Amino acid sequence: MAKYKLEYIWLDGYEPVPNLRSKTLVKEFGGFPKLGELPIWGFDGSSTRQAEGKSSDCKLHPVAVFPDTTRKNGALVMCEVYMPDDKTPHPSNSRANIPDDPGAWFGFEQEYFLYKDGKPLGFPEHGFPYPQGEYYTGVGFKNVGDIARQIVEEHLDLCLDAGINHEGINAEVAKGQWEFQIFGKGSKNAADQVWVARYLLMRLCEKYQVDVNWHCKPLGTEVDWNGSGMHTNFSTTHMREVGGKAYFEALMAAFDKYKNEHIAVYGPDNHLRLTGLHETQSIDKFNYGVANRGASIRVPHSFVNNGYKGYLEDRRPNSQGDPYKIAARILQTIATVPLK
Ligand code: ADP
Ligand code: MN
Ligand code: MN
Ligand code: MN
Repeated sequence: MAKYKLEYIWLDGYEPVPNLRSKTLVKEFGGFPKLGELPIWGFDGSSTRQAEGKSSDCKLHPVAVFPDTTRKNGALVMCEVYMPDDKTPHPSNSRANIPDDPGAWFGFEQEYFLYKDGKPLGFPEHGFPYPQGEYYTGVGFKNVGDIARQIVEEHLDLCLDAGINHEGINAEVAKGQWEFQIFGKGSKNAADQVWVARYLLMRLCEKYQVDVNWHCKPLGTEVDWNGSGMHTNFSTTHMREVGGKAYFEALMAAFDKYKNEHIAVYGPDNHLRLTGLHETQSIDKFNYGVANRGASIRVPHSFVNNGYKGYLEDRRPNSQGDPYKIAARILQTIATVPLK
């Protein structure tokens, strides 16, 4: 038997974007604990905007567990928040009732800025660094600075150690801006991994006195600096195995029809980012295009070449979006399109 440090992680009740919260439970197990062995736990919801002071109990139901190699016998336990009856999902619980399907695959491209002293890492004390151009996938101190690469590399290792399907990293278009990609099968599984990867990045950055800025347009719209997205690549079994031009066109018609419903869950302040500039489509328009990075949905060349089979990239979700809600909306819209 060994004492395990279980870090219970959940999303709080802040709006429009929940914060990640966590606390540690120490418990003895014979080996690395399985999900079913982890107890329900609780917290004070009056301190997280999830309850009134007079009846402040909220419940934590473990839904996924990952190794945490930063701690001896550590585990990261992603949780859903429930009401005290342990049956009713808390109103802030965006995971409990979403459609799920292991045949639905999601690849999230999470962009973000590293921030220090109120500005992106590498910005001078006054004014701006060189304009955008060489930063994207750049190399060298003048492009990526000194500690950023150390942070993203350590984050990659933490994710891989945790068993998260981290698929890659790149320096992004703005100085101090980076991206990582997470892939998962099933909406809940993929989104759980994104939230835990976000958690790991924020926790890692503490020791560098750096914060992660997830806002989709942290530098505002007045300046020529890219915002942050969370492009969502998706495919269902039908899209991968059957596909076809007619089905694709029906699918895109449904995405057009529900464009406002999609934007509603694609992250706050997206009107600041989806302007039609900086590789985006305007927030009030829907279009798709082959290899078109200015479209709402980019259709990879491979998709068309394979007879309209494969995955599509929805470029509208932003860096602060909740991946549970994003994946759910995509599956809801897909479900409106008849398969034959
Ligand atoms: P880009 O920057 O060119 O838009 P990335 O390489 O950053 O593309 O991201 C592509 C994403 O697509 C990856 O996260 C990958 O996991 C995901 N992906 C690849 N194939 C599929 C698929 N069949 N279904 C869903 N997502 C996929
Ligand atoms: Mn990418
Ligand atoms: Mn990108
Ligand atoms: Mn992309």
